[in-house]
Amino acid sequence: SSLASPSPSTVTDTTSQKEKLSFIGNCVMWFRTDLRLKDNRALSLASKHATKQNKNLFALYIISPQEWKAHDVAPIRVDFWLRNLVSLQDKLEELNIPLIVRTVNLRRNVPSTVIEYCKAVNVSHLFANIEYEINESRRDKKVCSLAEHSDIVVSLEHDQCIIPPGLVLTKQQKPYTVYTPFKKSWLAIVGSGPKYLELSPNPAPNNELIREQYASGFNTKIPEFVEGFQILTAQSKRASTEFPAGEDAAHQRLQTFISGRIENYKEARNIPSIDGTSSLSAYFAAGVISARQCVVAARAANKNKLQCGNIGITTWIEEIAWRDFYRHVLVAFPYVCMNRPYKLETENIEWNNDPARLRRWCEGKTGYPIVDAGMRQLNETGWMHNRVRMITAMFLTKDLLVNWQDGERYFMQHLIDGDFASNNGGWQWCASTGTDAQPWFRIFNPTLQSQKFDPNGDYIRKWVPELSSLGPNEIHDPSGSLSPKRFAKLKYTTPIVDHKTAREKTLEIYKAVTKGG
Ligand code: FAD
Repeated sequence: SSLASPSPSTVTDTTSQKEKLSFIGNCVMWFRTDLRLKDNRALSLASKHATKQNKNLFALYIISPQEWKAHDVAPIRVDFWLRNLVSLQDKLEELNIPLIVRTVNLRRNVPSTVIEYCKAVNVSHLFANIEYEINESRRDKKVCSLAEHSDIVVSLEHDQCIIPPGLVLTKQQKPYTVYTPFKKSWLAIVGSGPKYLELSPNPAPNNELIREQYASGFNTKIPEFVEGFQILTAQSKRASTEFPAGEDAAHQRLQTFISGRIENYKEARNIPSIDGTSSLSAYFAAGVISARQCVVAARAANKNKLQCGNIGITTWIEEIAWRDFYRHVLVAFPYVCMNRPYKLETENIEWNNDPARLRRWCEGKTGYPIVDAGMRQLNETGWMHNRVRMITAMFLTKDLLVNWQDGERYFMQHLIDGDFASNNGGWQWCASTGTDAQPWFRIFNPTLQSQKFDPNGDYIRKWVPELSSLGPNEIHDPSGSLSPKRFAKLKYTTPIVDHKTAREKTLEIYKAVTKGG
């Protein structure tokens, strides 16, 4: 691909290499968005390599505030990372593998810091899992070139997706640009043999007590917060309860879901008032659980089948295929990582730049109850139900005509599960600038969506307390269904736009740039 995802480098067994390794030869695992010990491709290989050479394995994590700011990482996500790091460090400690933490204030210094650290602990082999976004890819290329000058071998592994990007192709050997045929092909490849669902062995313990020997001069303390990413204590407490840290918590969540709710997932996943989905996205995004582990567990619950069998299970597996799909898209079309829409002609859409529109949407004060409920859920918890993500995103772009990139950024700045590929893919799907097979004239009617997916209004009542006294017939459209006097008493805002008029205007604007279809 043009992103040139670094292919896994092989460990050469030449005599000179062997000599070098017997002299230094320690290995380091650089953790990034893969904060787990089990089924971690790079960690597993690093451990195997260190054991084979009878050397030690170190672990490294870089806190990179400038990079995180540039990528709009939400403070609640940083908090989740830090909590998971503590748990990971404990697990590594049991294996006598020290996890060293470094804060690098300037992002350009990350590569040199990594290499300096490698030199300081006599590392000749650096392992990490590939991150596919463009800036991360550039950073890793720099690491590779510095490593070469220092005689350090770098192995970058494909770990995030079930099938590495670039390996699901059409008959013409082209990347898929539509999900459904991609999924068909993806299921066929995954089902064709054990290769893609094989779980990596756990790392082995280090032999020596290397902590004292090497690590005493290094910082192993994980900070409670990172400057610029603090969250309120109440929010942190809530997040710790709703998204407890650690692999064990993630696996427990997976097991509970698979042994119960997954059966009804196909229908339940669309109802935001109920707990019908896995709520594993934050763990996926931080790499606390792997996609392989999830598909393997789901398949096992479906008599070892990926397709057919229980519709809830197969639908859930297909959602994980969506996750792979959006990663494959960004590797195949790297310009989507550079603030550009997949459909380039949509760059000419004349968006409405009125900042009040964006602000009211962000605050959950649009006067459309389902939209406001979603935005308030996001602001309070750092998470939003998928159906409501679609409704709010489509409302911002198609009703308010605000540039999807503003919404994409706001989601990233607030989501605990913020993930560039899925977020960008989701936004572009809703804005009809992306890989959606449907034409641009799909515009959700927020009131009808609300009536269909939150029929009793339970979800709205939970997040929009001004409307808590309203019944199912009034709650979806209070300004339209109540007398002006009753509506005024609610102290709820009037709709920011009229959906019908907004829709017509949007259709005109899209039609102009997409030449009718
Ligand atoms: P489940 O329904 O249990 O699904 C299991 C897993 O499959 C999820 O955890 C997720 O990893 C993956 N998945 C499910 N649906 C999708 C999808 N449509 N696209 C890609 N992967 C999917 N997901 C994120 O993880 N991070 C984001 O930043 C993000 N932003 C989004 C923005 C918009 C506008 C939209 C429409 C969707 C976005 N999604 C994002 C996808 C989806 O909303 C969440 O993954 C899902 O709501 C997470 O809840 P869950 O873990 O209970 O999912």
